[in-house]
Amino acid sequence: MVKVAFIGWRGMVGSVLMDRMIAENDFNGFEPVFFTTSQFGQRGPDIGMDIPPLKDAYDVKELVTADIIVTCQGSDHTKEVYPKLRKAGWKGFWIDASSALRMNDDSIIVLDPVNRDVIERGLASGMKDYIGGNCTVSLMLMAIGGLFHNGLVEWITSMTYQAASGAGAKNMRELIEQMAYIGKDAKDLLDDPAGAALDLDKRVIDAMRGSAFPVENFGFPLAGSVLPWIDSEVANGQSREEWKGIVETNKILGTEKTIPIDGICVRIGAMRCHSQGLTIKLTRDVPLDEIAGIISEANDWVKVIPNTKEQTLKYLTPAAVTGRLDVPVGRIRKLNAGSEYLTLFTVGDQLLWGAAEPIRRMFKIAMEYVS
Ligand code: NAP
Repeated sequence: MVKVAFIGWRGMVGSVLMDRMIAENDFNGFEPVFFTTSQFGQRGPDIGMDIPPLKDAYDVKELVTADIIVTCQGSDHTKEVYPKLRKAGWKGFWIDASSALRMNDDSIIVLDPVNRDVIERGLASGMKDYIGGNCTVSLMLMAIGGLFHNGLVEWITSMTYQAASGAGAKNMRELIEQMAYIGKDAKDLLDDPAGAALDLDKRVIDAMRGSAFPVENFGFPLAGSVLPWIDSEVANGQSREEWKGIVETNKILGTEKTIPIDGICVRIGAMRCHSQGLTIKLTRDVPLDEIAGIISEANDWVKVIPNTKEQTLKYLTPAAVTGRLDVPVGRIRKLNAGSEYLTLFTVGDQLLWGAAEPIRRMFKIAMEYVS
């Protein structure tokens, strides 16, 4: 029977992956074995069947017995263990949520509703490393994959509004701690309906600038503010998150000529949905109804939201989209700059299509190959 090793299953991405696999009844037809870097011998997740106690995620001899390894553990673990597995002659499928191997020549970035053809070519040529993409890039491609596939994108500039979850579980907690701190500090002013808004404003900013404000993880206030820098610095004044936009999009699509993509990535006080406003230079003038049709026909999850205030505020927000696989796209219109300049706004749950779902679906594809 096919043996599948799961590493990093109890982290944020891993737990969403487990939930989705259980919801889709994926745990059948193979032998699952669960690994940990810190809880050897303890109980694994409740997947509705008997499973052995947790094994050591650094135990190469144990890992090489798996046909497929699915890992959401993180880059440090991948960098340490993956080379040892391949050196030991392991030929199995490595399916990974971390970025460690993403830009390797012999890896494929997986997002099968968008690049199933690239994945199939990889499988046919014997490639064995299939890596989940950056969350913002994956969500952008789920939203406008149709425009790329129809050759309509000359270039894109993006303005992102990224959730706390992209920075990790601790940061999600810190965002709410910051909100709670502000609310508690300003409570007496809030309780007075006749109170002046500027007094409230001063109290809030004093709290945010105070030394007791909880900023251990973000380093700065996010609640009541925005952080226009995500990840480390790379060349040309770009952040690493911004750099990923161009390199990962082009790798996922397997483009022959690089399509320029650039913008500013901004952390905002949403919990787990990334939003992005895109300006797209079209390769030709296409009417808006045709554009909407191309976008909505690209996959089963993208949903075009009519460009009205009511529909936009009801369906095109993190509050509406969190926990859902749908990827709504709205505010679609041509810009004053000219009829080849398109703008739109899209929202997606970054733990689903941004992280766990492409990994789950690649696991199913790999199973077809090894079974
Ligand atoms: P995470 O929540 O920090 O979990 C990673 C591992 O930390 C767990 O599998 C677990 O491993 C260990 N851990 C330690 N204390 C824990 C606790 N109290 N609860 C749960 N787990 C704990 O990491 P993640 O956000 O899921 O990210 C995993 C990888 O996916 C990273 O490489 C990340 O860059 C990538 N990724 C993340 C996102 C995202 O939105 N967060 C999106 C795309 C890709 P042990 O059982 O071995 O201790």
